[in-house]
Amino acid sequence: MGYKIAIDGPAGAGKSTIAKAVAKELNFVYIDTGAMYRAMALYFAENGIDLSDEKGVAVACQAIRIDIAYEDGRQQILLQGENVTARIRTERVGTLASQAAKNPDVRKKLSQLQRELAEKTNVVMDGRDIGTVVLPDAELKIFLTASVETRASRRYKELTERGESCNIEEIEKNIRMRDEQDMHREIAPLTQAEDAVYLDSSDLRIEEVTERILSLYREKAF
Ligand code: C5P
Repeated sequence: MGYKIAIDGPAGAGKSTIAKAVAKELNFVYIDTGAMYRAMALYFAENGIDLSDEKGVAVACQAIRIDIAYEDGRQQILLQGENVTARIRTERVGTLASQAAKNPDVRKKLSQLQRELAEKTNVVMDGRDIGTVVLPDAELKIFLTASVETRASRRYKELTERGESCNIEEIEKNIRMRDEQDMHREIAPLTQAEDAVYLDSSDLRIEEVTERILSLYREKAF
């Protein structure tokens, strides 16, 4: 078992940027679990599987193959052997992922894969239920959040920089809907683990949040 850092929080709180920076600094492997839910959602959408059809989803879960690979240190996600890393980064897939994430078979499959990955090496894993369900024994747990307005404007900037046309009100609405869905689902809802450190990144720069996590790590590890 390696050292495990769990970073949970709502959509757009900066988890992936910060988790990547922390992993780079510590030479840990970064695992983005949201990408796995997105890849599953893409499979359901492309294969015409209705998320309300629990049996159909359960059967599909047996057939879906998700693999993680690394290219120049960046996580790549493979769905049935095909690299779908770029294709899962849309608002539509994010919304579908949040719906798919309510399903028990989807969660079971991905939690298992995530635990297997964490067994092999030192990891920084980000998601919604890492500190509470997937890695409850993680040595360091962070609950990273930010105001809805901050999260929406960060997401708007990210999409515009990528050349995608988008609307800030629409993004904010989407974030609120995803928060609602992720926090109130029956299984593994987004919630702060009792032993997690709460960090609000609304008024902090990326470097400040990263440094805060690194100093928490150093305090605990040494
Ligand atoms: O983190 P990201 O926004 O890419 O995640 C997409 C969706 O996947 C989330 O809205 C959430 O519903 C789901 N998810 C989850 N548990 C995780 C990671 C993501 O339920 N550990």
